[in-house]
Amino acid sequence: MSDKIQWMGLYPEELKQALADLGEKPFRAQQVFSWLHKGARFSEMTNLSLALREKLAENGIDQPVTVQETRVSKLDGTKKFLYALSDGNCVEGVLMRYHYGATLCVSTQVGCKMGCKFCASTLDGYVRNLTAAEILGQVQCANKELGGERVHNIVLMGSGEPFDNYDHVVRFLRLVSHPEGLNIGLRHISVSTCGLVPQIRRFAQEGLPVTLSLSLHAPNDEIRRQIMPIAQRYTLDETLDACRFYLEKTGRRVVFEYALIDRVNASEACAEELADKLRGMQCHVNLIPLNTVKERNLYGVTEQQVRAFLAVLEKRHISATRRREMGDDIEGACGQLRKKIMEDSQP
Ligand code: SAH
Repeated sequence: MSDKIQWMGLYPEELKQALADLGEKPFRAQQVFSWLHKGARFSEMTNLSLALREKLAENGIDQPVTVQETRVSKLDGTKKFLYALSDGNCVEGVLMRYHYGATLCVSTQVGCKMGCKFCASTLDGYVRNLTAAEILGQVQCANKELGGERVHNIVLMGSGEPFDNYDHVVRFLRLVSHPEGLNIGLRHISVSTCGLVPQIRRFAQEGLPVTLSLSLHAPNDEIRRQIMPIAQRYTLDETLDACRFYLEKTGRRVVFEYALIDRVNASEACAEELADKLRGMQCHVNLIPLNTVKERNLYGVTEQQVRAFLAVLEKRHISATRRREMGDDIEGACGQLRKKIMEDSQP
């Protein structure tokens, strides 16, 4: 990556200092901050002098992300973006229109190290962390695509493990919710993790009341270890303890993501075991049939299997719903589009 400053990734105080270092008046920082977070390019910052705009451009970049390709689902209007980064890498994102507002799924890394067997983002390994400005840039791009409407909810469920890029993710969350920036409510943001226990505990104490989504996918360590390498490092009990700590510190109930994988974790016995594990915990379970990964011989389940699993959880008074699948015709699931495009472009 170039060592140019990504202006959008600076907190207002840092921007003030950076402008002072360039011999500019610190009060300009507020104007620059406000422009950048409206998604403006330097050329559009019309109440700044040309000299200042040139200086900003010489030393840094305005919008670090652009949309390279868009696919629109014929089924439900879901949009899938392939974003280009300034170093030639690309990541993807999905924009879903729900009745309660537009929801954007953002990526936090190029690739991923976590190695979950069912996840397309990790099949080709890890490339690099995204910066806070690059995560924000995805939101700016989506807002432009939306025209008048704005992104209302954000889920950090694109490619990458957010807690493996902790500092940039926390910076992103503070910037995107900043009153003089996009001002998106933290309660409208979900951070999804495969379960990095120390980071969950640290994050609980950041004063950021977002929803924590925990990718559980199994009712015991044995099954979880077969599909998620992180389960070798932290046991299910340690992971659930960290979730309880999150709830205690933030007052926010944790959402457990559970992808139903045929003949791996989808039996009614698994549902019973899951209900035992979650008993008494303030939480919600999101069920989704796995998006089949043929490379790994892992297959999704039928509607009937989802209903049977859900029925057990309901009977055991565990709050649970079936997550709607959107954009199925446009490689909506994380990592699938980038992977497909990279494969299509191979000779
Ligand atoms: N690294 C984070 C966030 C990215 S993945 C995490 O693990 O939570 C976002 C969600 O999609 C996770 O719950 C992940 O387990 C799930 N996921 C990945 N591949 C999937 C697939 N093929 N089918 C269904 N869900 C999948």
